[in-house]
Amino acid sequence: MSKVILKKGKHQRIRSGHPWVYGNEIEMLHGAVEPGEIVEVYDAKNYFLGKGYYNERSQIRVRLLTRELDEEINEEFFRRRIISCWNYRKQLGYTENYRLVFGEADFLPALVIDKLGDFFVLQTLSLGMDRWKTTIVTVLEELFSPKGIYERNDVPVRKLEGLSEQKNFLSASFPTKFKINEDGVKLSVDVENGQKTGFFLDQKDNRKALQFISEGADVLDCFCYTGSFALFAAKFGARHVLGIDVSDAAVDQARENATLNNFAHICEFQVANAFDELPKWAKEKKIFDLIILDPPAFTKNRAALEAASRGYKEINLRAMKLIRKGGFLVTFSCSHFMEPGLFFEMIQQAAYDAGKTIRQVAFLSQSKDHPIMWNIEETNYLKGFVLQVL
Ligand code: SAH
Repeated sequence: MSKVILKKGKHQRIRSGHPWVYGNEIEMLHGAVEPGEIVEVYDAKNYFLGKGYYNERSQIRVRLLTRELDEEINEEFFRRRIISCWNYRKQLGYTENYRLVFGEADFLPALVIDKLGDFFVLQTLSLGMDRWKTTIVTVLEELFSPKGIYERNDVPVRKLEGLSEQKNFLSASFPTKFKINEDGVKLSVDVENGQKTGFFLDQKDNRKALQFISEGADVLDCFCYTGSFALFAAKFGARHVLGIDVSDAAVDQARENATLNNFAHICEFQVANAFDELPKWAKEKKIFDLIILDPPAFTKNRAALEAASRGYKEINLRAMKLIRKGGFLVTFSCSHFMEPGLFFEMIQQAAYDAGKTIRQVAFLSQSKDHPIMWNIEETNYLKGFVLQVL
């Protein structure tokens, strides 16, 4: 097997658990390597660090799959890993809909598998992982006998690996729009044309944070997508919910979901841009008891962080002004680069500028099926607060 030797002093991050080896950390490569092939990685003193797949085209040259020298990477390896992912989710009470594999945090770098009812959606975001796609599908079929498996590899990050963007059936074809049951709420999801893998499982645990604060409330669900927070607010007793999103398709589906749950008389959805509507409503002196802000990642890199931070501050400030005294703001950022400290600071500034006193009710994070590895900072991306606006 070919061997990668790191430059002097470049082993620390990797030894402490991070699975990526960058091209500029490598001193030498012994042997010829095909794209995606497994290599052994050693530090400058020839201490073994792990085995993983190699891609000359990617800045992330190696992603480690195992720290055991004698662990072979084959179908059995993927079966073991996926069973262990499944056991973790089962232990935490996930049964119907959950992220089965969360990449690096599950020791399967660049692999995402979501389970939505009897269907699975898969993403292989690196060349090395993409090569194992058929094996992974075989294992999923054997373990879960799914009704269907769909590939949502229409993700730009694949280009950095020399891969194309693609969407495909990895099983016999099936109707890609179907219903799931999410903690008693029915949702129609579209795994082919919906955003990301079709449904935001990372907010699963956080939807429950709306319990009690939705009772009798006039609610605004900003960036509502297919209306999951809106529907949970209705389930938890909201008097009225307005959901807005810029996407026509999302709003159509949100309306369909409201009807599915007999909430059409409570939930109203509009196609609208939050950056236009929030200031307009502030001028009109509109008031809500509860506002949810779940925007997309305003930045996917560090360079655009300042502009992104201004965007986050703008919507939070506007939202705070629209909340009655004693009402609640549930606010999120799903950008990894907007670190918890920065997020906290941004909210504090928004409250200051809005002339509001805020009280933290709860700190929220990604759901437990998206576990965070403290030594792989990229696995920590979603954070949020339940705040009372006083
Ligand atoms: N809360 C949703 C997920 C939101 S994803 C859920 O739990 O399912 C972010 C959403 O913001 C996307 O649906 C996207 O269409 C929408 N969006 C992006 N920019 C927007 C804007 N300026 N105004 C309103 N919606 C926007």
